[in-house]
Amino acid sequence: MSRSIITVIGSLNADLITRTSRIPSPGETLTSSSFSIGCGGKGANQAVACVRLSRPKKRDARLKASHDDAAASILVRMEGAVGDDAFGQSLIGALEGDGIDVSGVQVRRDGGTGVAVILVVEGSGENRILLSPGANATLRPEAFGSLATPVPDLLVVQLEIPLDTVLATLRAAAACSPPVPVLFNPAPAAATLPQWAYEMVEHLVVNETEAAILYGASEEHVRSNLSQVGKEFQRRGARNVVITLGKSGSWFTSGSGEDGQQVVAAARADVVDTTGAGDTFIGAYAVSVVQQRREGGRFSIRSAVEWANRAAAKAVEREGAMESIPWLDEV
Ligand code: ATP
Repeated sequence: MSRSIITVIGSLNADLITRTSRIPSPGETLTSSSFSIGCGGKGANQAVACVRLSRPKKRDARLKASHDDAAASILVRMEGAVGDDAFGQSLIGALEGDGIDVSGVQVRRDGGTGVAVILVVEGSGENRILLSPGANATLRPEAFGSLATPVPDLLVVQLEIPLDTVLATLRAAAACSPPVPVLFNPAPAAATLPQWAYEMVEHLVVNETEAAILYGASEEHVRSNLSQVGKEFQRRGARNVVITLGKSGSWFTSGSGEDGQQVVAAARADVVDTTGAGDTFIGAYAVSVVQQRREGGRFSIRSAVEWANRAAAKAVEREGAMESIPWLDEV
C-alpha cells in the first residue's frame, strides 16, 4: 500500500518564550524566571504533531524526509514561508530532522521569519501570545490556486497565514477530483470568515475562544450550549465538528451522525505548560483520520478525539510548543 500524505499549509514561527510567576500589570516591569527560543507556528507545530504521532521516536530518529522512504506509512509535507535568517534555518532544520518534507517551505527575502512572543504563567501553565507574522504574511493566494502534487489524503490549514491564501487552499482542495478532505483549525479566529468556507471543511476543530468568535457569543455561552454551537457550524457546512475544552477535554459532533455528539474527558496530566496542546490535538486527530481511511470502514470521530485527547495531555506535561509534542510511542 502506498504512503498516505498529509499536507499542512500554514505558519512557521520562532517562539520567544518567557516564564513568569504572574502577568505584569500595565506599566509594570517584572523579572522573568526564564527565557528560551523555540520553533513554533501553528502550521509547523501541527506538521510536527502529524509526523511524531504517526511513528515511534526510536525509528524516526534515523529517518529523513524522502518520497521513497517506505519506512513510514504517512508522509507529512509542510508548505509555508520563513525569512532568509537564522530563525528560518533552524525551523527548516527542525522540521527536516523530524522527517517532514519541507520542499514546500519558501525562504523569502521580503520578510523575516515570523516571531511569537509567549508569556507562560508558572503554576497554571496558562499562556499569552503576541504574534508578528513576518514571512508568513508573504504567502499570496495566487500561489495556491491548485494543490501541489502528489495530491494529499488530508489537507490541514489554520489562520496564521493570510485569510485569502487559506481560502484559496480550501477552493483548491475542493477542486481536486475527488475533493481532498480538509481539517480546518480557524485559529486565531477571524470573525470575517465567509460562510462558504465552512462548506469546504470535513473536520472543523476549534477551541472555546475560537468557537465563541466564529459563533458570535461568549465563551461561557459556547461552554453551556455546545450542541447548539456545533449544529450552527454544521448548518454553515462543516461536517465533523470538534470543540476542545482545555482541561475538560473535547466535545464532538459527527458528520455521519453515527457517533452522535458528546464530551470526551481529558486524559489525566500533571500540567507544566499548555502551549502546544491544541496543535498536538490537531496533529493526532489528523493522523487518526488518515489511518482510519487506510484501514477502511467508517470514520469514528470518537476514536479520533479519544486518541487526540491522550496525545494532547502528554504535551501539557512538558514545557514549550514544538518540543512538547510527543511521539507515537510516548502516548
Ligand atoms: P493551546 O493554545 O494552549 O495550545 P488550545 O487553547 O488550542 O491550546 P485547549 O482546548 O486548551 O486548546 O486544549 C486542547 C486539548 O489539550 C484539550 O482538548 C485536551 O485534550 C488537552 N488538554 C488541554 N489542557 C489539558 C489539561 N490541563 N489536562 C489534560 N489535557 C489537557
